[in-house]
Amino acid sequence: MTYVVTENCIKCKYMDCVEVCPVDCFYEGENMLVIHPDECIDCGVCEPECPAEAIKPDTEEGLEKWLQLNAEMAQNWPNITIKREPPADAKEWDGKPGKYEAHFSSEAGQGD
Ligand code: SF4
Ligand code: SF4
Repeated sequence: MTYVVTENCIKCKYMDCVEVCPVDCFYEGENMLVIHPDECIDCGVCEPECPAEAIKPDTEEGLEKWLQLNAEMAQNWPNITIKREPPADAKEWDGKPGKYEAHFSSEAGQGD
């Protein structure tokens, strides 16, 4: 199993998660992060750190799409281990429905 980043990270991107991961397996896209499923050691430390509650264990129902997206994007996006300032409007996007359809970007983020 692995942990996966899900829809509510989009445009929230608080980055609290990257500082606690013992194996540095977060990767940064333009407006969300993903976890590399082959690098994650399933420690679960990041899950309660996410203010957007976007990190879930892949044992939860219905996360196949997100697991696939995490695996794919982790190969294309740069590694991130140091938290930066979250987007100024992160709070406004927290919990908004339909963020994937309207705002997912496959563009790479800046990384460390
Ligand atoms: S803490 Fe949560 S919202 Fe922030 S980048 Fe990590 S997964 Fe995304
Ligand atoms: S579960 Fe542990 S190893 Fe996996 S991403 Fe979270 S902090 Fe990193």
